[in-house]
Amino acid sequence: MRIVLVGPPGAGKGTQAAFLAKDLAIPHISTGDLFRANISQGTELGQRAKAIMDAGELVPDEVTIDMARDRMEQPDAVDGFLLDGFPRNVPQAEALDEILKVEGHQLDAVLDLEVPEEEVVKRIAGRRICRKDSSHVFHVTYSPPKTEGVCDVCGGELYQRGDDSEETVRKRLDVYHVQTEPIIDYYRAQGLVVTISALGEVTEVTQRAKDALKQQPEAS
Ligand code: AMP
Repeated sequence: MRIVLVGPPGAGKGTQAAFLAKDLAIPHISTGDLFRANISQGTELGQRAKAIMDAGELVPDEVTIDMARDRMEQPDAVDGFLLDGFPRNVPQAEALDEILKVEGHQLDAVLDLEVPEEEVVKRIAGRRICRKDSSHVFHVTYSPPKTEGVCDVCGGELYQRGDDSEETVRKRLDVYHVQTEPIIDYYRAQGLVVTISALGEVTEVTQRAKDALKQQPEAS
């Protein structure tokens, strides 16, 4: 299956993507994770992306599209993938359609995670992520690790993302409303959108997502 996950920052896209990708046996492709990997490796791309990400803005399309295309062309992604954080605006959605068309493929579904705005700010301000595996996500109040600063799953160091400050979160939300939300209408016109609430326990949301995806016919 070829799936796109959309939703505001803090909707739990990364967490849900990791569970769903495992369940569907397809790779989880997160452009945010790819940029963060470039930053920690000190690549030229990472150096270019860092200031933009810290400001809560979008990295330019040409850079992002090339990076996403390269990842989608890896052998593990030939039978499908779950995209998390890409596309993030209509030009990227159009570019994705073109990339898929060349291979004779189409998207199967666009899973839209809905969450109220006040909840987003609360979730992100307390979010702590494992340096070893970004799908290991904790929250200082809602799901604290057993030992402060240490991942319960793998012992990795927990950190707060540089762009998770309240000011940057508000900027990222603005960017989401103005640039990313229009892709939901773009995909709605193609009959691909399934919307679910992202509130509740992680496992409940995963189950909701699986049920919603089952309703969507497989395209190619
Ligand atoms: P995320 O981990 O998906 O929240 O992404 C973190 C940051 O990476 C975003 O706020 C953007 O600065 C950048 N980023 C991730 N994906 C994209 C994309 N598809 N287009 C442009 N910038 C992106």
